[in-house]
Amino acid sequence: MSYTVLARKYRSRTFDEVIGQEAIARTLKNAVANGRVHHGYLFCGTRGVGKTSMARILAKALNCLATDTPTTDPCGACEACQAIAVGQDLDVIEIDAASNTGVDNIRELRSNVQYRPSRCRFKVYIIDEVHMLSTGAFNALLKTLEEPPSHVKFIFCTTEPHRVPPTVQSRCQRFDFRSIPTDQIAGQLTSILQAESVDADEALIRRIARLADGSMRDALSLLDQLLSLGQDHLAADLVDEILPRAGDELMLELTNALAGNDAAAALSCTERCLAAGLGFERFAVSLIDHLRCLMLLRVCGADTDLVEVPAGVRQEMAAQCERFDAAAYVYMISLLEQLRRNVRFSTCGRALVDAAVVRLADADKFSSIESLLAELDGVESGQAKAERTPRGTVDTATKIGADSSRSATPGKTARNRQRAPAERATKRTTPPPAPSARADMPAPSSGQVQAALRDPLVQRAMEVFQGRPIDVKRIYGRH
Ligand SMILES: [Zn+2]
Repeated sequence: MSYTVLARKYRSRTFDEVIGQEAIARTLKNAVANGRVHHGYLFCGTRGVGKTSMARILAKALNCLATDTPTTDPCGACEACQAIAVGQDLDVIEIDAASNTGVDNIRELRSNVQYRPSRCRFKVYIIDEVHMLSTGAFNALLKTLEEPPSHVKFIFCTTEPHRVPPTVQSRCQRFDFRSIPTDQIAGQLTSILQAESVDADEALIRRIARLADGSMRDALSLLDQLLSLGQDHLAADLVDEILPRAGDELMLELTNALAGNDAAAALSCTERCLAAGLGFERFAVSLIDHLRCLMLLRVCGADTDLVEVPAGVRQEMAAQCERFDAAAYVYMISLLEQLRRNVRFSTCGRALVDAAVVRLADADKFSSIESLLAELDGVESGQAKAERTPRGTVDTATKIGADSSRSATPGKTARNRQRAPAERATKRTTPPPAPSARADMPAPSSGQVQAALRDPLVQRAMEVFQGRPIDVKRIYGRH
């Protein structure tokens, strides 16, 4: 017996079954019911959110043979419905623009358009990844799209609407498919598992739904992989066998090392993550995920339900989140996202990962943005000193401790710290700035700092400094 993958077996068959796109389904149903179906549609959205399913349902609604006119409730049983459902109907032509990009393909389409459908009411062209068409092909399509014969409908699907020429867009009705919310993916997974008579932990379902990142197809592919393990019961940790991830403990430990500016400890944590089978990209994703949770806990409070934190570590994470401020999280996440993209195309991924970790551990740049701004603005306010995040002082203390212990340890540690000898030297000879050493430094109130950080010019300046205003401060101090 052949096995049908879940994504095909459980593809939505009616407008009401499409998960997460209720508004679009409602609009299309109304159009069909009122006989106001447009001749061209543009379906936009990321992969696996139901564009092709919706296109096929619309084609079925127009062409179902069980009724005399288009229907909002196609039967799903007639020949036309069945052929359309698998993309093999003579009158509903599915074209993959990625492999048919040329003018010739569209010319052929154009000459076929004039013939009436063989058995259905409408000839429907579903063109997938339409943005891949060449400019010539788009131009060849325009005339037909402007005034197609009344028996022709076009449905274009794309993951990159900005690459579809405005001339084409303006001749279509555009629908933007949203990423499917985690809850709805989880709900659908639960009902599919019931239908398949497979028992699964709630935590596992949530995790798959989260990993799918808004794409039902991704969620179902992952579930397919898990089902192929052939277990009667899908336990929560099973997903780790397929997609290894760093344990929460390891991520907590790594973040602690970063918060303590301890690059050596952070690198050793990284080594353990990678040794556990985590690829470079998944390492970056795991850390991003962890930092995102911390950021939300920090910004929204420890009780927020915006993050799904395993109950066992929630308290520990709530405590850890205080160790960075919101701006630091934003910086770290964007740096890791850059890393995630870079390691894909690099042959020296490990070096990039290690470099990123070292950079994250060199964290005084975060706390110094505010004081740098204060220097630039020349604002003085005694109250601000009290308001300065506890992180600055804690870190300074940790740093001194870490530095002295490190200088006693030769070997690996010393090698790890060759990154910036000059910087190190400065750090050793000059004690880290204690609050008293900053007496001459003007300090702004937190309100002023927040306002300054929102200033586009300041944001630009931070970009120019590549998030390292500490260097500027040091140079500033010399004069
Ligand atoms: Zn039918």
